[in-house]
Amino acid sequence: MKKEIILFVGKQGAGKGTQAEVVSKEIGFKHISTGELLRNLKGSLKKELNLYIEKGILIPDELMLEILKKEMKKEDKIILDGFPRNLRQAKLLDNLFKITKVIEIYISDEEAIKRLEGRRYCEICGRNYNLITFPKPKEDELCDICKVKLKKRKDDNKEAIKKRLETYKEKTLPILDYYRERGVEVIRIDGSGKIEDVKKRILKIFKS
Ligand code: AMP
Repeated sequence: MKKEIILFVGKQGAGKGTQAEVVSKEIGFKHISTGELLRNLKGSLKKELNLYIEKGILIPDELMLEILKKEMKKEDKIILDGFPRNLRQAKLLDNLFKITKVIEIYISDEEAIKRLEGRRYCEICGRNYNLITFPKPKEDELCDICKVKLKKRKDDNKEAIKKRLETYKEKTLPILDYYRERGVEVIRIDGSGKIEDVKKRILKIFKS
């Protein structure tokens, strides 16, 4: 069976991870997030890569591809979130698989910074929250389910956020033109507003 691969692209805080998760369930695709794959690593490799991740720096392309390839081989319908992050990664991916569609979720830098600074997660159940936007926890900084204090990702600090947004503009944005030039459909979605509203905007693409 031919693989169907949809890329979700967007600056940090655009909600691409959240949308990839909810949309993949609706359309029966597997959501693969490179950020999550890296955060779920164990042992010495995790320690080594954390030196990059905590500073908001991309890990080496080949290494990232090796980790990702194993996951992608198992699936036929994939929403890929977080890869490619630069032209080199886009070319490496092209050698392996053909991309079906690219969905770019757009928000302004101001909105991105606001969302990233408010972002929290529960280290027990993995639920995501946002103190400034939504979903807000019911009680101040506690997980609604586990009732433990929510955590902030190490790379959601001012310095790393600045670095990650710069890297996005410089390295990741050019991949959109790369795909357009190759005739791959690139669709821009307004990422502002509620999760449910953005989800509806994305799902329209699959209904038409
Ligand atoms: P994310 O959760 O997508 O924001 O990714 C968190 C961090 O993981 C990034 O800042 C990078 O350090 C690393 N990372 C995720 N995806 C990639 C990728 N495609 N290439 C290199 N590094 C990545």
